[in-house]
Amino acid sequence: MGNVKEARSPLILHNAFLVTMDPAARVFRDGALVVVGDRIQALGPSAQILRDFSHLAAAESIVDLGSRFLLPGFVNTHVHTSQQLARGIADDVDLKTWLHERIWPYESRMTEDSYLSTLLCGIELIHSGVTCFAEAGGQHVSGMARAVKELGLRACLTQSTMDTGDGLPENWSASSTDDCIQSQKELYKKHHNTADGRIRVWFGLRQIMNATDQLLLKTRDVAEELKTGIHMHVAEIPYENQLVMNTRKINHGTVTYLEKIGLLRSNLLAAHSVWINEEEIKFFSKAGVKVSHCPAAAMRMLGFAPVKEMLEAGICVSLGTDGAPSNNRMSIVDEMYLASLINKGREAYMNGQTNPTALPAVAILEMVTINGAKSVLWDNEIGSLEVGKKADMIVVNPFSWTMVPLHDRISSLVYCMRTENIDSVMCNGQWIMKDHKILNVNEEEVTSLAMQASDDLLRRAGIYLPKRMNYL
Ligand SMILES: [Zn+2]
Repeated sequence: MGNVKEARSPLILHNAFLVTMDPAARVFRDGALVVVGDRIQALGPSAQILRDFSHLAAAESIVDLGSRFLLPGFVNTHVHTSQQLARGIADDVDLKTWLHERIWPYESRMTEDSYLSTLLCGIELIHSGVTCFAEAGGQHVSGMARAVKELGLRACLTQSTMDTGDGLPENWSASSTDDCIQSQKELYKKHHNTADGRIRVWFGLRQIMNATDQLLLKTRDVAEELKTGIHMHVAEIPYENQLVMNTRKINHGTVTYLEKIGLLRSNLLAAHSVWINEEEIKFFSKAGVKVSHCPAAAMRMLGFAPVKEMLEAGICVSLGTDGAPSNNRMSIVDEMYLASLINKGREAYMNGQTNPTALPAVAILEMVTINGAKSVLWDNEIGSLEVGKKADMIVVNPFSWTMVPLHDRISSLVYCMRTENIDSVMCNGQWIMKDHKILNVNEEEVTSLAMQASDDLLRRAGIYLPKRMNYL
């Protein structure tokens, strides 16, 4: 494939099954798309595009995709990049052990490892077709920003922020409210709109149990002033709702409380939102709050989120992988498949019978593209293939045992596609993976450095995993 940077001419990708995900849901059976710089200059039927543009392009920049699929890049709206080195440290343990004995000791000892952790995570994201992600809130945002810049990805980065909390490790007390706000303002100043505009900085609220009212409200006001988003874990477990009811004197959980204090706004991205009732769904819908549904993590630790009901209420629901210790697989492709199956099966738990029509393929594709873009407040530039939008896209090769015979090409993207079917990924007009090869960082080197850094970090954190079998 041609590289637009080298060729310095329009890049024309033609002979593609082009799924635009635009408002008219257009799909070109034999489509073509023109990239100039970092944007989509034109798209349409191959014959027309070649007629109008091929004289402007160098021969090596006219690329025949051989009927492969061309789609918008996927958006992963909830991922903890700094937890990637913790993959496998908390499998099959209860929630208390998960948090107090594994995750908090790990995160509190993390230093510059955040850079390597994000590189490793980013490699997995790119392989699964992700061009943009929303960091859920982690440690050392500057390390994340450096990694995102190098990988060539697009991201909304967020610091994990807590100004109160029980059970934190001794070396890791919550910061003061002012420090939480100040450090995020500094990160915003330093990194927002950097890396050719690929990096944005958001504000973070880890969860309501680690946030005073003062922090909640200041975060709301500063994010509004800076015109950026807020990423927060919301209504994850029944205990959280119960605690909010007890301590904040309210008749239901987190969402009801956030509504009461005026935190629900259209720039709030609420992760998980599993334990949310009918009235709270209406609060979200009315305020335009976005929801990141993370099916694997929900099944492992949280429960069944009312995704069908939220979509029916007009809420923008997108998909996330959550972090490696909650899921292990950072492939958004796996989440697409799981989201559909889990929400079909959930109906059996609700109504005594599964509902195979729940969350159909098109809904899932919307969740991972245009809804993802809306969730990260970037849909004016990404989330669909449209003239004038940024050239963030993926090439899928469906001609392998995983996907043939392709009777229903759209549904095959949700029910058959594997991460391995994704051949190439472009972000901001630049290929960042071509023919399965990550272009901007050395994948083998990152993998080996990450193995070492992860061992060192676990030793520093005093995390020792019990042996499950008879090791000889
Ligand atoms: Zn999370």
